Amino acid sequence: GTKQPTKLNVLTEEYLRLAYQGVRAKDKSFVCDLQTDFSEKLDKIPVVPQDIGRVLVNLFSNAFYAMQQRSQQEGNGYQPQVSVQTRQEADHVEIRVRDNGTGIPEPVRTKIFQPFFTTKPTGQGTGLGLSLSYDIVTKGHGGQLLVESELGRYTEFVVQLPA
Ligand code: ADP
Ligand code: MG
Repeated sequence: GTKQPTKLNVLTEEYLRLAYQGVRAKDKSFVCDLQTDFSEKLDKIPVVPQDIGRVLVNLFSNAFYAMQQRSQQEGNGYQPQVSVQTRQEADHVEIRVRDNGTGIPEPVRTKIFQPFFTTKPTGQGTGLGLSLSYDIVTKGHGGQLLVESELGRYTEFVVQLPA
């Protein structure tokens, strides 16, 4: 694909809805609070929209999965929530995807960007989503893909793209 100036707020919103609809189609009982906080000052930046779309879908799918897992563990008292933010920084824009799912244990965190690494049962994960996303963001766009997580509390992925 070729890079074109893109409104990341629009792209992000579209893929968030798509991913949520996809999950809900398979699991009608899963309800998640979607919070968005989009910067109105975001630069239009040159990206390959389909590629950044794949990154977003993967981050959202992983987030929903982690919340479904926690929901199964904790039952009724647990309220799944994903919060998606865009930010304008001095030399880059950021997309932050934060879920209150299972979190990622420290020893697992070091491996999640490796191809074929997955903690999901056979058939439910290829382990390719994050490695592909990492390549798209870093090699494809000169950006960064970062993760922060606290076990049992939250996971947040940060996509940084040069403005
Ligand atoms: P897959 O989704 O096929 O397992 P990914 O590369 O997308 O492959 O993710 C690799 C692993 O990273 C997952 O199996 C899971 O253990 C962990 N992971 C990724 N995102 C999250 C998240 N939001 N919360 C908890 N664990 C996550
Ligand atoms: Mg995945």
